[in-house]
Amino acid sequence: MSQRNVTVLGATGSIGVNTLDVIARHPERYRALALSGHSRLDLLAAQCAAHKPRYAVVGTAEAAASLRDKLGSLAVEVLHGADALAQVASLPEVDTVMAAIVGAAGLQPTLAAVRAGKRVLLANKEALVMAGELFMHEVEASGAVLLPVDSEHNAIYQSLPAGYDGNLARAGVTKLLLTASGGPFRTLPLEALEFVTPEQACAHPNWVMGKKISVDSATMMNKGLEVIEARWLFNAPTDKIEVVIHPQSVIHSLVQYVDGSVLAQLGNPDMRTPIAHALAYPERIAAGVAPLDLFAIGRLDFCAPDLARFPCLALAYRALNSGGNAPAVLNAANEIAVAAFLDGRLAYRRIADVIAATLDKIPQAPVADLQSVMVADALARDTAATVSAHWGH
Ligand code: NDP
Ligand code: MG
Repeated sequence: MSQRNVTVLGATGSIGVNTLDVIARHPERYRALALSGHSRLDLLAAQCAAHKPRYAVVGTAEAAASLRDKLGSLAVEVLHGADALAQVASLPEVDTVMAAIVGAAGLQPTLAAVRAGKRVLLANKEALVMAGELFMHEVEASGAVLLPVDSEHNAIYQSLPAGYDGNLARAGVTKLLLTASGGPFRTLPLEALEFVTPEQACAHPNWVMGKKISVDSATMMNKGLEVIEARWLFNAPTDKIEVVIHPQSVIHSLVQYVDGSVLAQLGNPDMRTPIAHALAYPERIAAGVAPLDLFAIGRLDFCAPDLARFPCLALAYRALNSGGNAPAVLNAANEIAVAAFLDGRLAYRRIADVIAATLDKIPQAPVADLQSVMVADALARDTAATVSAHWGH
């Protein structure tokens, strides 16, 4: 078996660390050829020492100098900046790119991997939310292989027929059911939501993740982003995508068929499962994940999401139905509001208010190209920052 070269964008994050864990279990199959990080330079240096990649990429010249210092005599070429991320995502010797940079910063390097026709393991969901239609056109044009890593979409991918061609009706599919844990505030009295802290919002009951996605899980904006992601990944109309709260996070999502069958993927909540699935597809490899113990789990519960508790989920549906620039505006406003909340500058309940006000203020416009997406993103960031400063403390 030939060894595949892998670029891990966002190697120092939660998905990146889990990806390197799976890669390290299969040295005969995978080699980490390039790693990227942003602020956690000590961790990136340790990853370079362990994996001996050919390239390491950071954000700035200063960060690059600091990383070089930490690497000592290790033979790793240190690069920096957005162009370097695109470069390591499209190197001819690279077969697979893990796209695990958080937020809008992940869009350009992920697109570079797509345009180069790579096997793209997509964890970053913001790229599809901002520019879903353009992104999927690029995938089609380049022949890139897109494999979803987000656990819900990976579960749907596994539950759809092999070789699914983007036509739900032809595949006999009547609904995609996205499961959601409901996050740490699912049962908190509504009045208490006024006072929740970033620490409480980041303490997810089932998953250990980066801070931004942890807050998104608490507000359920994460599920809203995932509805938009599913719309593009599977070419699914909005009314064929349903959100189901399932607090145990054992069923990662389901596909309902016209004959009454419902197929689901189950497993312990550990991202190494979807990562290993996407790395090895269509083969299966060990991921280091403990087998599912149904007797210990005992029961699985389900309920419908409460939109009064989770207004961000309703905002995501609103943006998806509006189309055009609205999802990019939603995403940018959310990134600004979540950063302000994590910084202690904005109350938890105001996150949804900032996003709603930003959607209200920015005129709807079609997105003809990536440039118009980036314009909407920049405008929404400015607007959301102003709104959030007004409501913040
Ligand atoms: P983390 O915050 O843990 O990691 C983010 C990664 O992106 C880090 O490597 C970080 O570098 C890097 N990064 C941050 N900002 C920039 C920037 N401006 N330019 C370049 N690199 C940057 O996030 P997660 O790993 O949790 O999530 C990554 C993506 O995967 C997100 O889009 C998330 O929604 C998605 N995802 C995550 C899941 C999870 O279980 N964690 C599940 C499903 C999807 P550094 O740390 O060095 O600053
Ligand atoms: Mg998910």
